[in-house]
Amino acid sequence: MKVNIKKKSKERLEFEINGLTTALAGELRRILISEVPAMAIEWIDFHQNDSVLWDEVIANRLGLIPIKFDQSFFNMKDDCKCDGKGCVHCQVNFALKKKGPATVYSGDLKSSDKKTRPLYDNIPIVKLSEGQVLELEATAQLGLGKTHAKWQGAVVGYDTSEKDGNKYDFIVESACGLPAEKVVMKSLEVLKGKLDDFTKDVERLK
Ligand SMILES: [Zn+2]
Repeated sequence: MKVNIKKKSKERLEFEINGLTTALAGELRRILISEVPAMAIEWIDFHQNDSVLWDEVIANRLGLIPIKFDQSFFNMKDDCKCDGKGCVHCQVNFALKKKGPATVYSGDLKSSDKKTRPLYDNIPIVKLSEGQVLELEATAQLGLGKTHAKWQGAVVGYDTSEKDGNKYDFIVESACGLPAEKVVMKSLEVLKGKLDDFTKDVERLK
C-alpha cells in the first residue's frame, strides 16, 4: 500500500493510494467515517437553564462541537486502565456559566484540561435575554461515529481512475477536532489492525 499526499491543509487532505482493492477502498472510507475515535460531549448536568431552548436541544448542540485533543493521551473509556470508571485518560470535564443578555458560544466552555477544548470558540449555542442564566457541567469522552454521528471522524469521498484499477484518489475532510492528516493516519492504523487480525484468523484455520 503506497500513499501519496496531493494536497494538505489542517481540515482537508487529498491523497492517492495505490494497491487497494475496491473492497479495501470502501472499508477505508467506512473506517474514516465511523471508526476513528473522536472527542465529544456525552454527559451534561444542567444546574440552571432559563434559556428558550430545552435541555435536550442544548445537549445536542454541545455534543456536536468538535473538540481538539491529544490522540496519544486519551483512551476509549471501555479500554482505559480505570476499567471504564472515568479518569483523566478517558474523560474531560467542562463547566459553563453565563448570564444574559448574552450569546453562549462554544468558547464559553471551560475545560478541566487546557489541551482539550473546543476546536472553534465561535459556535453559537443559545441566546440569553436579560437575567437568564445557563449553568451546566459536561463530560466529554472518546467515541466512534458508528455509535453516534457526533463522533464522526471525517467526511470522505473517493474515486478511481479507469486506467489504473488499484489507484484511488481520496478527499478527506475532518469532521472532528483532529486535523485531517491525523484522522487518516489513525484510519490506516485501524485498517492495518483489521488485516492483521484477519491474517491471524486465517493462519489459525490452517
Ligand atoms: Zn480512564
